[in-house]
Amino acid sequence: MRNHARDAGLENAILVNTCAVTNEAVRQARQSIRRAHKDNPAAKIIVTGCAAQVDPEMFGAMPEVDRVVGNHDKLKAETFNPVSLLGGTEKVRVNDIMSVTETAGHLIEGMEGRARAYVQVQNGCDHRCTFCIIPYGRGNSRSVPAGEVVEEIKLLTASGHSEIVLTGVDLTSWGEDLPGQPKLGRLVQAIINQVPDLPRLRLSSIDAVEIDEALFDVVTSEARIAPYLHLSLQAGDNMILKRMKRRHSREDAIALCERLKSARPEIAFGADIIAGFPTETEAMFENTLRLVDDCQLAYVHAFPYSARPGTPAARMPAVNGAEIKARAARLRDKAAQALSAHLDGMVGRIDDVLVEKTNFARAGNFAAIRLPENSAPRAGALVNVDISGHDGRQLIGTLV
Ligand code: SF4
Repeated sequence: MRNHARDAGLENAILVNTCAVTNEAVRQARQSIRRAHKDNPAAKIIVTGCAAQVDPEMFGAMPEVDRVVGNHDKLKAETFNPVSLLGGTEKVRVNDIMSVTETAGHLIEGMEGRARAYVQVQNGCDHRCTFCIIPYGRGNSRSVPAGEVVEEIKLLTASGHSEIVLTGVDLTSWGEDLPGQPKLGRLVQAIINQVPDLPRLRLSSIDAVEIDEALFDVVTSEARIAPYLHLSLQAGDNMILKRMKRRHSREDAIALCERLKSARPEIAFGADIIAGFPTETEAMFENTLRLVDDCQLAYVHAFPYSARPGTPAARMPAVNGAEIKARAARLRDKAAQALSAHLDGMVGRIDDVLVEKTNFARAGNFAAIRLPENSAPRAGALVNVDISGHDGRQLIGTLV
């Protein structure tokens, strides 16, 4: 977007790419817009992203905003033509995202200087979990064909990236809209086979119930795939999972984690979990808390439930706000204990880690590692470190 705006002569415009995932994200977007206008009163402000897609009129009504652009158009060069973008009086330029069937390929030049490169292979989501606003910002699921993904990863690998992360809104639904409906496992296997120089491939968040056998096999047998999976679990109580319209049970989640761990013991898991979903009782919440141990989670991203207007869950009987906060705090405490126990298990090991900046790296299993100041080579290098301890959040390591 920055490049398109610059090429169109709009380098002084301010682009605000909003997030819709929680009410807090939307509040912060509005605050950033007001602050940007105060700091640069003469600059044009163009707002896009998921929150703008979901509620374009709300952003269009802000006096600080010059234009609101939809998620599909934001990556097209022609959108930034100053005459068509800023001409006329119509502030809101947002189409129906549900009609979009193509996925914009990601720009390679946008990745330079980062330790890892992110390749978006899928966008949108066909599910309608009752708490989630994302499909209304991103539209229905669509995938980038395997050949294009492999070519992009070849280029990124040749330009020196040691780690590639495959991303998508609902990554495990990759392929459903492609001829022959290939599964994600086939894409991952193709990348591993056809890009032999790629040192490490990582998967971003995946839906536990949608892991196909080929994906299970390649993740558990291929050393170049980072031994870490971030699972979209959301809750550990079956009634809440049903009310969320998730497609797995707590037993499915536990069985999957056990199978993965026994096939590849070094694998670590992270998960997104919501505390205080509507109708959640103390007993239901305790089932969710227990999932941290039962699934052997190392990282828990704890979200206090926040009602998104327009979603079915927003109309369900709510847990009171203080209780939601208290449960989220309990979940975060549990997560801290789980992380500390996970890090305990890594002390004394030698691991190959990806340097992100001079004194910070990440292991294949996603553990954060603090390195002595100025000890590490360039960001993006894969190096071996000796892990001597941890502070509860990060490992402490030295180069070997
Ligand atoms: S699968 Fe994920 S993105 Fe899709 S509706 Fe559910 S929570 Fe939202």
